[in-house]
Amino acid sequence: MGKPTGFMEIKREKGKERDPLKRLGDWKEYAAPLSDEALSRQGARCMDCGTPFCHMGMDINAFTSGCPIYNLIPEWNDLVYKGRWKEALERLMKTNNFPEFTGRVCPAPCEGSCTLAISDPAVSIKNIERAIIDKGFENGWITPRIPEKRTGKKIAVIGSGPAGLASADQLNQAGHSVTVYERADRAGGLLTYGIPNMKLDKEVVERRVRLLTQEGIDFITNTEVGKDITAEELKEQYDAVILCTGAQKQRDLVLEGREAKGVHFAMDYLTTSTKSLLDSNFKDGQFIDAEGKDVIVIGGGDTGADCVATALRQKCRSVVQFGKHPQLPAERTADNMWPEYPHVFNLEYAYEEAQAKFGDDPREYSIQTKKIVADEQGNLKELHTVQMEKVKGENGQYIFTEIPGTEKVWPAQLVFIAIGFEGPEHPVLSAFGVETKNRRVDAAYGNYKTNVEGVFAAGDARRGQSLIVWAIHEGREVAKQVDSHLMGATVLP
Ligand SMILES: Cc1cc2nc3c(=O)[nH]c(=O)nc-3n(C[C@H](O)[C@H](O)[C@H](O)COP(=O)(O)OP(=O)(O)OC[C@H]3O[C@@H](n4cnc5c(N)ncnc54)[C@H](O)[C@@H]3O)c2cc1C
Ligand code: SF4
Repeated sequence: MGKPTGFMEIKREKGKERDPLKRLGDWKEYAAPLSDEALSRQGARCMDCGTPFCHMGMDINAFTSGCPIYNLIPEWNDLVYKGRWKEALERLMKTNNFPEFTGRVCPAPCEGSCTLAISDPAVSIKNIERAIIDKGFENGWITPRIPEKRTGKKIAVIGSGPAGLASADQLNQAGHSVTVYERADRAGGLLTYGIPNMKLDKEVVERRVRLLTQEGIDFITNTEVGKDITAEELKEQYDAVILCTGAQKQRDLVLEGREAKGVHFAMDYLTTSTKSLLDSNFKDGQFIDAEGKDVIVIGGGDTGADCVATALRQKCRSVVQFGKHPQLPAERTADNMWPEYPHVFNLEYAYEEAQAKFGDDPREYSIQTKKIVADEQGNLKELHTVQMEKVKGENGQYIFTEIPGTEKVWPAQLVFIAIGFEGPEHPVLSAFGVETKNRRVDAAYGNYKTNVEGVFAAGDARRGQSLIVWAIHEGREVAKQVDSHLMGATVLP
């Protein structure tokens, strides 16, 4: 274990973050690593509990608790404490194909269920994970692992997000020939076109895709399956197909004035911004520009926060984010106890930046948009809202009611809709004749088989919008199923 008395002597240190005002001047990652000494101290805080809840990986009350890929956290905490970084890397790579992604942007449900978090701040698990893999790349310990033998079996993976990449990685290591089809011009799914560069530098994603390519995986981008190549062609050419097409069908706002010019889906904003940054450092002008505008983001989640941070970097005049729910409490409440994911107030990176720039947290809570108003040319002019009260109904379910007299008008020239996702897009699923249930691909957790022989599904397409760490988990698990399907048994962990 770490230092036996470490948890009593050493305070938690969070990863360093760049100064909020300074980082608004660029698109580089806002989070910076801790020093080796600080990381060793943090590793020393791990108690190596008899039953380590940090890596149990399960849903409690619909939220994730513990690490879904069962990372061997206490083991690598101890190795980092002792400065045995290369061994820590070996332990980490046993369970996580892409720690450089999770170590940067995972919401770290492991920390919520860390035993130390019952009475003290949790071990800085996510920072340690990131440091181990970054050191692995810096020191040249990560080299292409080219499989010695090939099985002769061919697999098509559709979609290159974390689920597709993890399944491709596992199946390639098992000796199968894997081709990944991606409709976008770059691989990575939401790692590339979703999560902004200041959270996850795209060079980090590209570095991993280059490595997977060197290991033998074939990436075919700019190719939409069901349109540029048919499902029949793929079924003929490959021994198995895995659908990892995500759940990117955005939920729309059904509201008077929705058609006003200046109202956009959040994903259109985030995607075009990243693409323009990568293609030309914004010189091509192919993005939605918030410069000098009053911006309102409708939707209180993380996608909305990423819009806030993007608008700030574009030098918006003001930015507000509307959320339906009340502000979270500062500490856990009685109905959200350890080891559940903690639903507590947090000043995430985007909000910290808005506060530094404008003096205020940009979030407005318990608010509902009633209508959108455009000027005579159809350009967005203002939003009309009302405050809501959230109360428990007779059956225990929550109901929202308007509070009379709280109507307000907000000037805005740009609005981003970030109220969630409906599920996977259907054309590709129909092309394969794959059935859906509750708007997701109908493939049972654990076996990942669809109703079509030889066609599997994993990641957000199967479970709905979720987390990168769950996509990696499902990518690894579906690979085992496909390997068994093709070979009669699996060699995969
Ligand atoms: C803005 C935003 C921010 C997020 N931030 C975080 C975060 O900080 N931390 C976190 O853990 N999670 C985050 N998430 C969630 C996380 O990104 C997803 O859960 C995860 O990427 C899902 O992985 P996936 O591989 O299943 O699908 P995706 O990443 O959605 O990838 C699916 C891929 O399939 C491709 N595709 C679809 N149809 C076809 C077709 N017919 N032919 C070829 N290709 C096709 C798509 O182009 C896409 O590249 C965020 C999500 C969003 C939207
Ligand atoms: S992948 Fe996420 S949950 Fe697992 S150890 Fe890393 S930060 Fe924690």
